[in-house]
Amino acid sequence: MRDNGAMIAEQKTVLARFLDTAGKYLEDGYRRPGEECAVTAESGGEAPDPRRAAPLSATPGDTPGETPGDTPGDTPEGIAADIRSCRSCPLEAARTNAVPGEGAEHPLVLVIGEGPGQDEDRTGRPFVGRAGQLLDKMLAAIDLRREENCFITNVVKCRPPGNRDPEPMEALCCKPFLRRQISCLRPRSILCVGKVAANLLLETTEQAAIGSLRGRFFDYTATDTEGTGPIPVLATYHPSALLRNEDLKRPAWEDLKLLRAKLEELKGP
Ligand code: SF4
Repeated sequence: MRDNGAMIAEQKTVLARFLDTAGKYLEDGYRRPGEECAVTAESGGEAPDPRRAAPLSATPGDTPGETPGDTPGDTPEGIAADIRSCRSCPLEAARTNAVPGEGAEHPLVLVIGEGPGQDEDRTGRPFVGRAGQLLDKMLAAIDLRREENCFITNVVKCRPPGNRDPEPMEALCCKPFLRRQISCLRPRSILCVGKVAANLLLETTEQAAIGSLRGRFFDYTATDTEGTGPIPVLATYHPSALLRNEDLKRPAWEDLKLLRAKLEELKGP
């Protein structure tokens, strides 16, 4: 066991590094002029949430956590390696394993949760606990499987202590990895499970309840990366919420049916 002095010194180092990257973000902003990415309600759909703020887009090197290699040559393995070596936010201090995500190289659905839990931290794999088993069942109900046609990841790739929600700055630090994954994987659609992922991707200025975001598609458009977007984005309840509240299963199932119909539509005749 390490003594308290060593732990305090280590915590100070992590805090200093975090403040440094946060300071750079505050000085520079995270979007270069002329480069945009936006999430909008699909044409003909309901207007986007007015609380949406700046788009999700980020430009390489502009955001804390950004690493070299955010290029068209990005690969899932390369991004995963960068995630495993990342020390950009305080969550790295307590992690056992970073959890980059796993699944198909060009998935029909990119599933985004909020952050790894205890089982995920231990194994380095996403959604492997009870909630993960339920997620697999939910996907299977609409003919999707993580190893075949989905990719599963989280907003933050390291476990928040005590399974708390990620802090906004932690999500901000980790966001470039998610953006790189979206650009690299080019999923046919995105499913945000839970309010943390939904609010990050839909870029609300306040944390909106998932009930106000679910049930309709938004478009994710990343114009800074050739070949990406618009990608339909759907939000629904996190499997953990379904485990806690049976009443949410019906609306979640309605969302899954919407997703299945969207995938059929995208497949064409
Ligand atoms: S949560 Fe993301 S930004 Fe923070 S240390 Fe882990 S990989 Fe890096």
